[in-house]
Amino acid sequence: MAGRNFLFVPGPTNVPDRVLRSMVVAMEDHRSSKFPELTRALFADLKRVFQSQDGEVFIFPSTGTGAWEAALANTLSPGDHVLAARYGQFSHLWIDMMQRLGLEVQVIDVEWGEGAPEARIGEILGADRAQRIKGVMIVHNETATGVTSDIAAVRRAMDAAQHPALLYVDAVSSLGSLDFRMSEWQVDLAVTGSQKGLMLPAGLGIVCASPRALDAAKSAKCKRVFFDFADMRRTNPDGYFPYTPPLPLLYGLRTSLDILFEEGLEHVFARHRRLAAGVREAVAAWGLATCCRHPRWYSDTVTAVMVPPDVNGAHVIDVAFRRYNLALGAGLSKLAGKLFRIGHLGDLNELMLLGALGGTEMAMADVGIRIELGSGVAAAQDYWRRTDPVPKRRVARSEVVYASHSTGSINT
Ligand SMILES: *Cc1c(COP(=O)(O)O)cnc(C)c1O
Repeated sequence: MAGRNFLFVPGPTNVPDRVLRSMVVAMEDHRSSKFPELTRALFADLKRVFQSQDGEVFIFPSTGTGAWEAALANTLSPGDHVLAARYGQFSHLWIDMMQRLGLEVQVIDVEWGEGAPEARIGEILGADRAQRIKGVMIVHNETATGVTSDIAAVRRAMDAAQHPALLYVDAVSSLGSLDFRMSEWQVDLAVTGSQKGLMLPAGLGIVCASPRALDAAKSAKCKRVFFDFADMRRTNPDGYFPYTPPLPLLYGLRTSLDILFEEGLEHVFARHRRLAAGVREAVAAWGLATCCRHPRWYSDTVTAVMVPPDVNGAHVIDVAFRRYNLALGAGLSKLAGKLFRIGHLGDLNELMLLGALGGTEMAMADVGIRIELGSGVAAAQDYWRRTDPVPKRRVARSEVVYASHSTGSINT
């Protein structure tokens, strides 16, 4: 098929040409005296993306799932009690992993389409007088439903309960796209993968651990070998890995971090907010609902669009792919068939999204959803025309500091 495939699943995301080119490298000796120049800067720069002042970054040849396992296995012991909220397929899979690692998981089930229930978390922690709960597990951006939880509010609830549990956050579909403040929110373990906001192929599982998390690792008894922080900590400070690192991905990561810092993290976040708002205008113009139940949880990286009950969402996705070369995300597990998802994260601009919205409209009309062709495209165009574009600022990497903590006039 001529032209580009329109990749609008919420991961893997589009890999910028510049990143692609930077990954075409000859292999080299990862134990050379030069290699640490690459790796040490990667650790330091990833910390800036996590907005962590005192954390330590680990890069595993893995995916986000491996990063989950590393975070859990290094800091917990079999039989430990943990508290987890379930509101979508990714929080569900994480809970499944915890159970398989032998943890005692207290699950708070909430409607899929809602976010982390901070009040309920606070109540449970407040009632845990013996402080048996060792960890609170939150998926920052539930990619299955297009819901972003309020990590700051979860932290406030934990502090109000004066509970010492560690805070674990899955930031796989938020880091590098949404404002993520590891230090400010006192997150102890944050995990991500390379193929979402970092705009790379899958293959890196990345963890940022707080000093408290590293302390917990000293007595944690869950079995780990490949994912052991201790092996990494013996070699990482000198710029080396305990085993062969995936060199092309590390070079790609160098470039993707450069791209993020050149745009400026705060501008990256503002761009995602702006693009997402345009997509939501389109969905409203179609007369359809999002899976997300309340505006406070709107995700700026993925929008899950509910299809009418007589339509199978999988049909929309298949027609979009076969007829229009457009890849949309599927409904997962209990949402299968009920929705389709538009990923809007990573290397993306307004016109790319207009193409995706146009293709989505055609596919929806083809399967019999009664929408007016062009209505969503026009609504997004109108939104993007009447709101200020995010300024294109180019700054030297050395000038970039942490993302602005202001929330109001971020794109002025
Ligand atoms: C994609 C995703 C994962 C899984 O990551 P893999 O890299 O596929 O292992 C986990 N959590 C969330 C929120 C995700 O979006």
